[in-house]
Amino acid sequence: MPSDVKIHPAVDGGVKPGRSDFAGGELRCHCASNPVRVRLNGNTAHNHVCGCTKCWKPQGAVFSMVAVIPRDQLEVVAGEEKLEVVNKDAAIQRHRCRDCGVHMFGRIENRNHPFYGLDFVHTELSPDQGWSAPEFAAFVSSIIEGGYPPDGMSAVRARLKELGLEPYDALSPPLMDAIATHTRKRQDAVPAA
Ligand SMILES: [Zn+2]
Ligand SMILES: [Zn+2]
Repeated sequence: MPSDVKIHPAVDGGVKPGRSDFAGGELRCHCASNPVRVRLNGNTAHNHVCGCTKCWKPQGAVFSMVAVIPRDQLEVVAGEEKLEVVNKDAAIQRHRCRDCGVHMFGRIENRNHPFYGLDFVHTELSPDQGWSAPEFAAFVSSIIEGGYPPDGMSAVRARLKELGLEPYDALSPPLMDAIATHTRKRQDAVPAA
């Protein structure tokens, strides 16, 4: 039965729709005292579940859930001193709480990156309701790298489809097209040698 397959706590009971009039809210890390607090001044976009091994996910979850928001709409309101970058060499600099390990936001500092200007966030860290709903599943095959048994993959893909989260082994086609369009524009911008 595909519905027995666990994906992520936020979607295992069915995907909850977001609210178009939702104006934002606050993310909090898992520290019981003095949590890191991040204010998002707007709703997120392109929310999805992700099977890669780099995104933060709650204990026991097979997928992460991750969305984007313009970086100028993100503000650390408490606990900034507890944030550290997981890997300074990665394209996405994931800022985690050094005490509980939760990733509060991922930021791209390379201005030539297709997603420069967008921060990656996990809205499950918010007590607020109305965040944009996950729309698809990215990097599904990568859960095998994370230790998932390969013979369980058809059940995972069936469950994702049942939830309305179309499974892709990269990003969704619109996002892959956006990346390719960005790459093409950059090539056009370079004068021929
Ligand atoms: Zn923490
Ligand atoms: Zn990921």
